[in-house]
Amino acid sequence: MPTPPTHDDSPPPPEAQKTVLFCPDCGHWSPITGDWDITTTADERLLVCTVCGSIVDRRSDPMEAT
Ligand SMILES: [Zn+2]
Repeated sequence: MPTPPTHDDSPPPPEAQKTVLFCPDCGHWSPITGDWDITTTADERLLVCTVCGSIVDRRSDPMEAT
C-alpha cells in the first residue's frame, strides 16, 4: 500500500503585515511592526512616534477569544 503524498498547503501571507502607519505630526512612517515605540496600558496599546513622540495609533487590548 503506497503512502499518500503529503500535500503542502501553506497558508497565504497575512496582509496585515504590510500595513504602514504614518505619523500625522512629523510624517515619519514605518510598518505597523516597525520602529514605533509601543506602550501598553491596562487596556490599550499605543504606538508612539519615535521621532516626535506623537501617538500614531491606539488600539484596545485584543480580547479576542478564538
Ligand atoms: Zn512623529
